[in-house]
Amino acid sequence: MSELYLRIALPSPLRRLFDYRAPTQVSVSAWQPGVRVRVPFGRRELVGILVETASTTNVPTNKLKDALALLDEQPLLPPSMMRLCIWAAQYYQHSLGDTFNWALPALLRQGKPAQARQQKMWLAKLPLQLDNPLLTRAPRQRHALQVLAQHNQGIAHERLEHFGISKDSISALLSKGLVTEQIRQLQDLPHKPPSLAQPELPLNDEQQAAFNAIHANNQEYKAYLLAGVTGSGKTEVYLQLIRETLATGKQVLVLIPEINLGPQTLERFTKRFNARIALLHSNVNDRERLEAWLAARSGHADIIIGTRSALFTPLKRLGLIIIDEEHDASYKQQEGLRYHARDLALVRARTANIPIVLGSATPSLESLYNAYNGRFALLRLTKRAGAASQPKFIRLDVRSLPLDSGMSAPLQKEIRQTLEAGQQVLVFLNRRGFAPVLMCNDCGWMSQCSECDARLTFHQRDNELRCHHCGHTEARPHQCPSCNNVDLRPIGAGTERAEERLRILFPDTPVLRIDRDSTSRKGSMDTLLSPIGSGQPCIMIGTQMLAKGHHFPRVTLVAILNADGGLFSADFRASEKMAQLIVQVAGRAGRASDLGRVIIQSQLADHPLLVQLSEQGYFAFAEQALSERRATGLPPFSHLALLRADALKAELADLFLEDAYSIAEQLLDQLKIEGVELLGPITSPMERRAGRYRAQLLLQANSRAQLHRLLTPLCNNLENLPSARLSRWSLDVDPIDLF
Ligand code: ADP
Ligand code: ZN
Ligand code: ZN
Repeated sequence: MSELYLRIALPSPLRRLFDYRAPTQVSVSAWQPGVRVRVPFGRRELVGILVETASTTNVPTNKLKDALALLDEQPLLPPSMMRLCIWAAQYYQHSLGDTFNWALPALLRQGKPAQARQQKMWLAKLPLQLDNPLLTRAPRQRHALQVLAQHNQGIAHERLEHFGISKDSISALLSKGLVTEQIRQLQDLPHKPPSLAQPELPLNDEQQAAFNAIHANNQEYKAYLLAGVTGSGKTEVYLQLIRETLATGKQVLVLIPEINLGPQTLERFTKRFNARIALLHSNVNDRERLEAWLAARSGHADIIIGTRSALFTPLKRLGLIIIDEEHDASYKQQEGLRYHARDLALVRARTANIPIVLGSATPSLESLYNAYNGRFALLRLTKRAGAASQPKFIRLDVRSLPLDSGMSAPLQKEIRQTLEAGQQVLVFLNRRGFAPVLMCNDCGWMSQCSECDARLTFHQRDNELRCHHCGHTEARPHQCPSCNNVDLRPIGAGTERAEERLRILFPDTPVLRIDRDSTSRKGSMDTLLSPIGSGQPCIMIGTQMLAKGHHFPRVTLVAILNADGGLFSADFRASEKMAQLIVQVAGRAGRASDLGRVIIQSQLADHPLLVQLSEQGYFAFAEQALSERRATGLPPFSHLALLRADALKAELADLFLEDAYSIAEQLLDQLKIEGVELLGPITSPMERRAGRYRAQLLLQANSRAQLHRLLTPLCNNLENLPSARLSRWSLDVDPIDLF
């Protein structure tokens, strides 16, 4: 009998499959693609995914090893998800085994059984014996039996107390033979069709038009860009589309940005539907994640809501995908498998032949371009739903004005007037800490990270200097390390400093700071935000955490302290990011009936981008920005891949990239690939980070297909380069950050 070989994807950076001999005691038909297999690998054991079987192998017999165990009876991933992972691995030039690793819940990666938790259920034994003499002197047991009898599915062991049944009563009833226990898979619980728990809002005309457009077509693939200003009721449109999809027995996948997963967002879904909702985000533990994943795969969850990686959840009857805030950078993974969940979701929707809705008040230029060229249907909501109107933008030129902890005098006056009118204020400053640098007033020494080419931020509360790039911290020096002078001054302002100043300026008003430092504890964001709900005058000061998802109905003034960074950055996406941030922050204002104002304090108040954004809105800005991208040949009018390298010595990173450059040049020539440019290698804008020197080579192409013709052989070559062993390197396809 000929031998059977297993071709297995293993969690290794190597971009290839590994062959193993199938153990003969397992029947041949059990080796279905998608099952997990435990194999020996060097001195370790690894869990891999079977991709295919073969009757021949190139591995010499003396090197070939036996697989150790088959872990699944059924493939873990259905064929459609296998294909998606294979597609992603090829597109992002990543090892398939490691791609599976990013796609699977941790417990499955570790080889744990793909089985839902079991539940112990208690049932009253039939025929019911409430009058049994054994119960005459045991009223509590009798009561327990009565309650159990009312639940013909039984009551779960953990839920007994909820029904007023003590564990003692249950053991007594068991010994009297009046109840039985049953072990059930959680998933076996009966499926009730989802229903509305809360009435829907009647859609306004724009919402209705958007709903109808998507509804009319909901049996096949089509991508919709729902571009609705903040507060225009995009979520209401999603909810009604979800209701419609659930009614046909299908499941819905909703992706949301990392930072949006406040209870506020979830509540809207859980309050609306009596449906089973599975959550997949960074705050669920490994067991909960596996349960949610299994419930999605078996079709027992109706709605799956999660961040980026939830995109990889297998769904039995997927009928609709929604990507909320599609422009958000957290959809792009910045390590390992550098995928973009929005882009992969589009691939998934296309292969599943279902509609996909991308929603945003500030669509990415990529998506807008796709809408303008007809690949996406563009649906616009131009007005706020309900009573609220759009906030008014004011540009405040502070070129000749002194800044007091980041705030000019006219701005302070506006804040005061707003508070006096009984309203709330939101101050946005995208910089945490007290000051971005500490400086010696005598010799000019500045606090510098020893591991990075970056300044150390002064955090006053902890009296510490911190590097925001590598996490290095040190105590604030008492005197200048260079000249011993004691006059060290914080220069510039972060949220801590602005908070301190606001408290002094407005001693009778609560000032709430919201940034990563103040919200690091789980749930503290909501605790922090609770005074805002009371509606009394207060000031919120915070970073971009404030820009997302939250509703602050009583905020009528939004002050943006420092928007200038986006106007002269070397990153070609900086102005797009800045515009999105300004519009999103502005969108927090005046969401109820009071008119909102947004003051943009800037040294560059006449900058054409700021003028356009504040006077004509995001779409006008985006059209202008797109035409600039077209003129300069930048994405979405070209396609990029960024090869990064870092090493302990700058020469090593350079050496690797020089090698990469020559190989790429040869490949372009050999394969007759046209229209791909190699830009670099150059040192990265922040050359040293966490003690390593960084450099990069940018590949820019007119056509995605030509770029990928180069990337695949390039990566295969790079893997085997001697210089690759001396550097750490990675390839980022469609990078969103060029640094
Ligand atoms: P978006 O998701 O576009 O930011 P939301 O869906 O959060 O907007 O809606 C903003 C506010 O408007 C919410 O308080 C919501 O309840 C309300 N709203 C949405 N649609 C309607 C409608 N058709 N009629 C009345 N109020 C609505
Ligand atoms: Zn000094
Ligand atoms: Zn550092």
